[in-house]
Amino acid sequence: MLNLYNSLTRTKELFKPITPGKIGMYVCGITVYDRCHLGHARSMVCFDVIVRFLRSQGYKVNYVRNITDIDDKIIVRANERGVSIHELTAQYIKAMHDDTKALNILPPDIEPRATAHIETIIDLIKQLIEKDYAYVSENGDVCYQVERFKDYGKLSHKDLEGLVAGARVEIVKEKRSPLDFVLWKKAKSGEPSWSSPWGEGRPGWHIECSAMAMHELGEQFDIHGGGLDLQFPHHENEIAQSEAASGKAFANYWMHVGMLQINNEKMAKSTGNFFTIEDVLQQHHPEVVRYFLLSSHYRSPLNYSEDNLHNALKALSRLYQSIKDINLVECELDKAWLEQFNTAMNDDFNTPVALSVLFQLSHEINKTNSAQLAFTLKHLASLLGLLQSSSETFLQAGLKEDEKEWIELLIQERLQARAERNWARADEIRKNLAEQGVELEDSAGGTTWRRS
Ligand code: ZN
Repeated sequence: MLNLYNSLTRTKELFKPITPGKIGMYVCGITVYDRCHLGHARSMVCFDVIVRFLRSQGYKVNYVRNITDIDDKIIVRANERGVSIHELTAQYIKAMHDDTKALNILPPDIEPRATAHIETIIDLIKQLIEKDYAYVSENGDVCYQVERFKDYGKLSHKDLEGLVAGARVEIVKEKRSPLDFVLWKKAKSGEPSWSSPWGEGRPGWHIECSAMAMHELGEQFDIHGGGLDLQFPHHENEIAQSEAASGKAFANYWMHVGMLQINNEKMAKSTGNFFTIEDVLQQHHPEVVRYFLLSSHYRSPLNYSEDNLHNALKALSRLYQSIKDINLVECELDKAWLEQFNTAMNDDFNTPVALSVLFQLSHEINKTNSAQLAFTLKHLASLLGLLQSSSETFLQAGLKEDEKEWIELLIQERLQARAERNWARADEIRKNLAEQGVELEDSAGGTTWRRS
């Protein structure tokens, strides 16, 4: 029984797919004009884990994540570099695919690009004009008439009257109301453009997601997701466009991933406050980054700091350490642990609780050396995209990355094992460290270590 928080109703709801056993899911993807930053990674990792978990529960998920490959920023950047928009976007699509592969983010089932769906987009705009929700403005742009859509604001819980009152101060000549947004932008000279019934131009940003989501998943589908910063106006506009055209509810559940912050400020390209995935992966193992991104609930804000990354490394090393000396053969999964994990994930994909289940399980493995529990741990971790290396490979990488902390961590674990009178485990840790050339010395003041 999956309960998920629906941004539309602001409550946790029992999930019920339109077609039993199947899920259609659309997530807003990347605008490809630069390298992806870690905030993008958070959204993609969260939805990756959601899809992995839903599939593990037997759902057949059709996961669509778009690529925005035409927009103002792309045009400006291509001009700065003296390349075509196609050359620019091809470069950054490849970079995004490299980043997602490195982070073990599974590709979506369909990855539609705006420029490959111009006809679909034009068809949708035609429908909106026919139904009198859109108009050709004085400057030749096609605009959506927000005040015609009575439910406008239902996702972001903004009130249309309040929006209208707030917007009146601004006067935008070409639009009937300052709230109206562009569906089709008339081309200026030298800009990339496509032919349309309204002349040469290009789609606005919001319309592509409505058009591609309905094209791939139907007028009504199960889950629509994206970063919290997209809730207004992007997702609100998607609802206005889609529901005005189809007369049906668009997506049944809306999911929003919280913002990644650095020093408690939003990570964003526009403010220069960001790290690219590429930068972060030069410093940290991809699984450490994934662990960090999953260490807080997907709806909560998450703060980036080197400390948090170090903690993620320590935690992940502990999980790897617990299965290091166990021969991982296929076993039947342990039902009790499986259920604990599923309970956490069925509660609005609560990954921090799911991770704590993995720790309790690893603790049990340290005590019992059970091959079945080790196999269960590896399986459950794989649903989070973790523990995909061998312990040896990971722990050696960890040693290089953060040697002292890793050794300290093992010393702490050995002390704990000794306190629990688990002499076998304590000896094993001493032996492992000796193999790595680290000698321990116990005294009344505690345990110290040195290179042998
Ligand atoms: Zn979108």
